[in-house]
Amino acid sequence: MEFMFQRPWLALIFVALGVVEYLWRKHATVRGYDRGEVMASLGIALGQAVIKPLSAVVILAVMSLFGRITPWQFPVDDWRTWVVGFVVLEFTYYWFHRTSHRVRWLWATHAVHHSATQMVLPAAIRLGWTGLISGGWLFFAALVLVGFPPIVVVTLNGINLAYQYVLHTEAIRHLGPLEWVLNTPSHHRAHHSRETQWLDCNFGGVLIVFDRIFGTFVAEPRGRKLDYGLVHGEHSNNPFRIAFSEWRRLFADLKQEKHWRERWRIISGPPA
Ligand SMILES: [Zn+2]
Ligand SMILES: [Zn+2]
Repeated sequence: MEFMFQRPWLALIFVALGVVEYLWRKHATVRGYDRGEVMASLGIALGQAVIKPLSAVVILAVMSLFGRITPWQFPVDDWRTWVVGFVVLEFTYYWFHRTSHRVRWLWATHAVHHSATQMVLPAAIRLGWTGLISGGWLFFAALVLVGFPPIVVVTLNGINLAYQYVLHTEAIRHLGPLEWVLNTPSHHRAHHSRETQWLDCNFGGVLIVFDRIFGTFVAEPRGRKLDYGLVHGEHSNNPFRIAFSEWRRLFADLKQEKHWRERWRIISGPPA
């Protein structure tokens, strides 16, 4: 999000695309447009815009500390740093995203993104507020430790996120051979499905190749629409309820356990 606010032209393109998609969906009568849900996504994005700069202070401080203690650093002005950095960041994003689905502590934040039941562009900016606490950012901070300058990591991460905005739509069906290499709206619709066969698939950001390599790729079914959203959890359009709903469920489960070993099993284990 902060990537978007630092670049007003990008925000403008995103809004324009959102309007075009809204008009398209209004005419494609079968799809409908859940305005309440879109307003909730915008509310969550607004909350994120307030929280993210505060989290960024901590994350950037840790990154710059890592940058100082690392024994070597790749030069920012060498194109190879960016090309290799792009592939390494995509690899890291794949594991960060896969872990976010398989470890409940990280899922508590990521579930917010999966709470939308319609695949429309504004669902892309429905991102959890508690990323700093969940700690998924440590995956990316680790890239600084292996020698990528913080500016390279932050920029490539921004590109990864901005790219994913256009994945949240039903307006684009298939992109032919591009579907082999790139993460596409079709692959990401499958990722957002709550149907058993499509749970925990297609974790890539810009690239889909790591899903193909690590066996988590599942294609979208042809000729039928998937059911999107969360398997568990209530449906709400209140941004605060959505932002903390999975944390509430997690702490309720922890309260029921008497032993710390069991509690740890819940926190580190997959969502039920
Ligand atoms: Zn996900
Ligand atoms: Zn998504």
